[in-house]
Amino acid sequence: MKYASVPLNQNQNGWLKPDLRPTVYPTLIGDTEADWVVVGCGFAGISFARRLANHDPKLKIIIVDAACAAESSSARNSGFIIGLPHNIGSSTAELKKAQSYRSLLQEGINQLTQQIEQQGIECEWENAGKYHCQVDAANQRVLKEYTDNLDAMNEPYQIMDKEALYRKLGTRFYNKGIYTPSSILVNPASLIVGLANNLPDNVTMYNHTPVMAIRHGSVTQVVTPFGTIRTANVMLATNALSRELAPVTSQQAAMATFASITAPLTAEQRQKLPTMSSWGLTPVNAIAGATVRYTQDHRFLIRQHVTPALNGRITAAQTYQATLLHQQIFNKIYPQLRDVPLTSTWSGTISVTRNGAPVWGELKKGIYTAGGCNGAGVSKQTIAGTLLADYALGIDHPLIGAMQELGKANYLPPSPVLDIAIGVSLMKERYLGRKEV
Ligand SMILES: Cc1cc2nc3c(=O)[nH]c(=O)nc-3n(C[C@H](O)[C@H](O)[C@H](O)COP(=O)(O)OP(=O)(O)OC[C@H]3O[C@@H](n4cnc5c(N)ncnc54)[C@H](O)[C@@H]3O)c2cc1C
Repeated sequence: MKYASVPLNQNQNGWLKPDLRPTVYPTLIGDTEADWVVVGCGFAGISFARRLANHDPKLKIIIVDAACAAESSSARNSGFIIGLPHNIGSSTAELKKAQSYRSLLQEGINQLTQQIEQQGIECEWENAGKYHCQVDAANQRVLKEYTDNLDAMNEPYQIMDKEALYRKLGTRFYNKGIYTPSSILVNPASLIVGLANNLPDNVTMYNHTPVMAIRHGSVTQVVTPFGTIRTANVMLATNALSRELAPVTSQQAAMATFASITAPLTAEQRQKLPTMSSWGLTPVNAIAGATVRYTQDHRFLIRQHVTPALNGRITAAQTYQATLLHQQIFNKIYPQLRDVPLTSTWSGTISVTRNGAPVWGELKKGIYTAGGCNGAGVSKQTIAGTLLADYALGIDHPLIGAMQELGKANYLPPSPVLDIAIGVSLMKERYLGRKEV
């Protein structure tokens, strides 16, 4: 039997503050039974389990994770909660799809807002909007397409030139930017840990319990190193990870991306910048360019570099290469802050599908999944998990149709063809975005 390759990041998540003490959940030891087993405690798994548990408090639901919520990509991301689709296209059908997608993302945000209010989760949540910025002064096409999309969606925005951006961001690195007010910034680790710690009573959590295999039969068996769970239903909330667990050909590729954070700026260092409140910036080219944030506690975050990670493993050497790259980029963006050190670099995996569609629904009798985040998953995976619970229980929800309208992910070839295809596509994006770093 082929066992699952369990994800591992050889680095520390820089969002974890010393005062954030994630609850320690036990490892599963011994055999047990459940009505549902949820594999993975990121946004998809947590929202799915909560919804299922609230619908039927008599269900016995178990969540298992190879590590824990604080180590998931849900805790390791850049903390943008985005309510707008990025690429829309020009046809009426594409616009309709984009509108459905926006409704899904907005509902994901509504659900997260409710949770943090009801459970008093402190996660530095702020309606800060975001700047979408371009370095290359000569290329007018990309941002024009972006504003055309915003016009088509009837979304407000503000066009900003180099000097206007300097006043907000303290750098003249970018030549042009578009500010949209409808994005939220958070500390993602505080958010996902808070959500995981506030699940209904009929959900039991096991951490450091990797699922090595799923045996299908009259009763499904979820095999972990020190105990097997007999169940009727499994939800794979693993995004693209542990491909060996999915009962059908994988339509997702796991890629890793990296983030670094600086030490908090001293009062003296802050004098080298205009007076700034916290903000978030996304690059026009997400593969080559850098996502940047200035946090409430005066630190800079840089997210940049994407690499294949089909088994979800990132080594210390890969992490160190990212540190060097991020330091170089930070020095370019903020030459006046060369004395500000990076204090942490970490990685996390994202799922990429060939056509950008999610992998959502029942894969085989009793095996469900909500994967295929395509790089943005805080709001998307939250709503995908919630709707999947409704769908699995046969409960109608007006947005299930919108979820299905996003389409189905296309076939991806197995390795080594897949590895070559990913390598070529990354090379192409890096070339196209070479002026953005
Ligand atoms: C550096 C970085 C920056 C990002 N920035 C943003 C952003 O700003 N905004 C945004 O919306 N998205 C962002 N993303 C993407 C976002 O983090 C993901 O879309 C989201 O975390 C996916 O959530 P999920 O619940 O589907 O999966 P995950 O958060 O990946 O959770 C999957 C869980 O499954 C577990 N698992 C896997 N295999 C097994 C197994 N065999 N047994 C048991 N458990 C297993 C893992 O341990 C993990 O905890 C970013 C990602 C990264 C890495």
